[in-house]
Amino acid sequence: MADDAGKTALIAAYDGVVCDLDGVVYRGADPVPEAPKALQDLRARGVKIIYATNNASRVVAEVAEHLAGLGAPATSADVVSSAEAGAAQLARALPAGARVLALGGEGVVEALARAGLEAVRPSEAEDAPSGSVAAVLQGYGKDLRVRDFDTAARLLGTQLPWVASNDDATLPLPWGQSPGNGAYVDLLVASLGRRPQVVGKPHPPLYRLALDHLGTEASRTLAIGDRLATDIDGAAAAGLDSAWVLTGVDLPSDLMATHAAPTFVIGTLSELFQPYAAPVEHAGTWQCGTASARFVDGELRLRVDGASAVEVVRAGTAALLGERERGRPRDELVRAAAATLDGLH
Ligand SMILES: [Mg+2]
Repeated sequence: MADDAGKTALIAAYDGVVCDLDGVVYRGADPVPEAPKALQDLRARGVKIIYATNNASRVVAEVAEHLAGLGAPATSADVVSSAEAGAAQLARALPAGARVLALGGEGVVEALARAGLEAVRPSEAEDAPSGSVAAVLQGYGKDLRVRDFDTAARLLGTQLPWVASNDDATLPLPWGQSPGNGAYVDLLVASLGRRPQVVGKPHPPLYRLALDHLGTEASRTLAIGDRLATDIDGAAAAGLDSAWVLTGVDLPSDLMATHAAPTFVIGTLSELFQPYAAPVEHAGTWQCGTASARFVDGELRLRVDGASAVEVVRAGTAALLGERERGRPRDELVRAAAATLDGLH
């Protein structure tokens, strides 16, 4: 929904966006309502888009195909993964064609090849002498076996360079949380006593790679994501403004449990085309549109007065963040947000 008052739209301050995927564009196989259309409108407006995902298991062409199938504008050139950020990191440090153990799925193997390195699968490296591979790139791979971690541990014991695509401890699945790449990284950390360099969000290299692809200034680039500890904290670490979108996993109570401070809070991507109503404080009460919020006696008092849900969330989270800054115990703020704001979206 491109508006006519283009100058005042939130997105008018930006030339490019770095967009997260799961929880922002799709949830599992299904599109997030309004998201594909909003992305089409962004492109029509001349805003550059790059999709940046911490998921290292899928090859980028597969991700682009999924996005295009949902109606979002995307080709392989518009997607960067944490596996690619890891491969780019290694390609800078190693000679072209260097052999790198691909401890992960096809996304890791392909990223190494695209970066001009030779991917060596763990099954090929089982009996390989140390010194026959130059580094290890670790990303999520559903078919990895215990013996593959043995091979990696043996090679890494020689102080080989070790890069991990991301350190998300969990992977959300329809039935709950399964171990993510971070859990498998920790498995090796526990036996080796050293840690890899991690390139995925919230660490800056993936966002930096996305910026390289966009060719936009950091100050004119907006990061969009649903996860506070990865997308939003990562944007801050990379010097980007961020829009936290409430269509994914994290809720207002999660904001109170973290140090994250998103630049914008939006309910859907279509709000990028509207002027941003920032919450304003007056004598301890936070106002956003017709919504107001005040923290009194350990409780968040809200007045809605016909405001939209996202305006209530902005006013409410602003009031609670004010208390967070004053050092009020986190559990009290988490409880207050869960009781009032979490159910609004
Ligand atoms: Mg996400």
